[in-house]
Amino acid sequence: MQLQQNSMFEMMEREDFEQIVFFQDSHSGLKAIVVIHDTTLGPALGGTRMWNYGNEIEALRDVMRLARAMTFKAAAAGLNFGGGKGVIIGDPKRDKNEVLLRSYGRFVQSLGGRYITAEDAGTTLEDMRILMSETEYVTGVNLDPSPFTAYGVYCGIKACLEYVFGDGNVEGIHVAVQGVGKVGSELVKLLIENGAKVTVTDVDTERIKEAINLGAEYVDPGKIYSVECDVFSPCALGGVINDSTVRRLRCSIVAGAANNQLENGSMGDKLSSLGILYAPDYIINAGGLITVAREYECARRCETLNEHEIYREVRKIGERLKEVFRLSEEIVNSSGKRISTVKAADIFAMRRIDGIRCLRRIYLPH
Ligand code: NAD
Repeated sequence: MQLQQNSMFEMMEREDFEQIVFFQDSHSGLKAIVVIHDTTLGPALGGTRMWNYGNEIEALRDVMRLARAMTFKAAAAGLNFGGGKGVIIGDPKRDKNEVLLRSYGRFVQSLGGRYITAEDAGTTLEDMRILMSETEYVTGVNLDPSPFTAYGVYCGIKACLEYVFGDGNVEGIHVAVQGVGKVGSELVKLLIENGAKVTVTDVDTERIKEAINLGAEYVDPGKIYSVECDVFSPCALGGVINDSTVRRLRCSIVAGAANNQLENGSMGDKLSSLGILYAPDYIINAGGLITVAREYECARRCETLNEHEIYREVRKIGERLKEVFRLSEEIVNSSGKRISTVKAADIFAMRRIDGIRCLRRIYLPH
């Protein structure tokens, strides 16, 4: 993203960003940016990341990219929320304190509900509870979203198996899980409970021990890509499917929780050409977003949060993925080839947003 003279609005227009808000408070040292990408479906929902960015442009670039991704994720998940994201510039270990967080809470409150925040990298559930003393526009303070994300990934893997092998049963299926943190460890539990063979990797020895105790096998981090398996499940970092790793994959399906698994868009086409089915990350890992969205809606309506209902919602991720796969078969590109599941996911999400925009144009008075 190039930022030049008079280029700010041009840059916003290019990807249809609605609003960028900068906030500084010299008393608390807060420097924060909130980006609201799109509110067609409802108020923008997305976590607040606290990160020691190298410079302000880097922070702006990151928050814009993340906010836009939230629009697609919420739309595809069938939620009535738009996409937004917040960043606090600073080192969470060194710079985070109650004064700074409360200052950020007042900033979020001043946006009047156009942006609703939650935890993200560098912020915690405890931080969200502090924000609550200053703003009503915060969620994800009661339920840990990770088990719901893991359940959504599990349902997604079953949908992928059904699509590829005609049977969604995980019994006897071999899954290689990269990263057994909050989401990966819950996924491993579900897979092993249901009869799958699981190979894991991680860089944290405690996490590895826990997974082995559950019945998983272990390989070194560098070897996970070449494990002969049915499903490779990235649950650690972004960018793991790239030019150097894609050639090493020995699986039929890539389906995991990590955000931004593909280093770039062309990796979606590369996976298709290798005959590997890719479950687009923002569709399969939406369980956590569905959870925080439901928590917010329940709090607004003074209703009790019902975990069973959330699990029912999250289970729909499987059907949603199958719709995306069907779409990728139906639409062909200019060279007559079916489009990748990555492109199909974007079309799936945009159709919902465009549908509502169209309705508004027809029914709302000018
Ligand atoms: P986490 O930090 O609890 O777990 C990540 C695990 O990956 C850790 O155990 C870490 O040691 C391991 N890891 C780091 N580098 C590694 C490497 N090079 N090789 C192997 N393992 C490595 O995070 P999480 O909450 O479980 O989230 C995992 C991924 O899923 C992240 O990309 C996150 O953005 C995404 N995600 C999480 C949620 C959620 O509800 N927690 C929701 C949507 C997406």
